[in-house]
Amino acid sequence: MWDSLWLDARIATMVEGLGPYGLIDDAALATREGHIAWLGPARDLPGSPERRAREVHRLSNHCITPGLIDCHTHLVHGGNRAREFEMRLQGASYQELARAGGGILSTVRATREADETELYRDAVARLRALMAEGVTTLEVKSGYGLDRENEMKQLRVARRLGSDFRVTVTTTFLGAHALPPEFADDADGYVDAVAALWLPALAAQGLVDAVDAFCEGIGFSAAQTRRVFEAARELDLPVKLHADQLSDLGGAGLVAEFGGWSADHVEYSSEASIAAMAAAGTVAVLLPGAFYALRETRMPPIDAFRERGVAMAVATDLNPGTAPLLSLRLALNFACTLFRLTPIEALRGVTVNAARALGLADRGRLAVGQRADFAVWPLEQPAELAYWIGGGGPARVFAAGQERTGLGPPMRQ
Ligand SMILES: [Zn+2]
Repeated sequence: MWDSLWLDARIATMVEGLGPYGLIDDAALATREGHIAWLGPARDLPGSPERRAREVHRLSNHCITPGLIDCHTHLVHGGNRAREFEMRLQGASYQELARAGGGILSTVRATREADETELYRDAVARLRALMAEGVTTLEVKSGYGLDRENEMKQLRVARRLGSDFRVTVTTTFLGAHALPPEFADDADGYVDAVAALWLPALAAQGLVDAVDAFCEGIGFSAAQTRRVFEAARELDLPVKLHADQLSDLGGAGLVAEFGGWSADHVEYSSEASIAAMAAAGTVAVLLPGAFYALRETRMPPIDAFRERGVAMAVATDLNPGTAPLLSLRLALNFACTLFRLTPIEALRGVTVNAARALGLADRGRLAVGQRADFAVWPLEQPAELAYWIGGGGPARVFAAGQERTGLGPPMRQ
């Protein structure tokens, strides 16, 4: 006996080999104990629906997709940079902004000053925006604490979001995000602290699912990034990287060398790095929100990713500085409009390929045995998810087979 059965749906399974979107018309989907127990054309259903399932729902031919996955966010942080945005648009120079206390270090200051309750409260508001659009899994990075206690505080808030809400949250330690004032002239000393002291301590507390760094001229060098990755390997932790966003330091190739889950941004990635990603199965995570907000012009090498068969994911990069983007659906549209992804590629980017970028094999496509994370959209065709600019959320969302009704209040405060 199944727990639930859904009928009269068009299901974008995202399973390869079933045609565009893995679409099945007039489909049925059954769940049992949080997983998909049956899926296929309704005409192939064995026996009468009412006899097979405790509950039967009819969906008036709405589209079902896998629950959406945002595989790159900086959701937990203190404050915001709206004032900086205003000043920039009034013509303030970079130096004036720095003098006014702007930039990433202003977010570090605000994150350090916020206590855990305040960080949690602000993060909940942003999480609700993503969940309202059908997000059932997201990644949250640290990287605005830049010392052991404050990185830990960010990661603990991320963990708490995952336990309080009906959403899966994976955590990424991004200690090597920027140089804090205490280490202003000692990047190597800072990397030592991140790699040798803080990472093992935070990992021992079960706060770290993956390790990330910002490999860039204004971030950390390839050699420094390598030291962080070697420390992650010692602890058996997977790696990913902010790579080749503003210049080519070989970051995508480096993370591929470590068998990393993903290289993110990748606007400047070289042919050699792309070949290394293809060989290692490293996903290219495209972040069109940052590209848009920074008014960048250098496109990621989409054609080369296609030719080499590098899987592409799409994420919000939700962060207060360069991508204050609270909408994964808008990221889908940006990916098509700005990067010329097809709507199929874009939807793969927030489902099956986003799951790969998080090392999750049990979600991102709808098939028997997969987690029953799915969204029911009041749309006729899946391409509409990328086509509408700011189209809003699904009619219903299910996480591990349970309907997510409303978005709160959280189960505990
Ligand atoms: Zn980022």
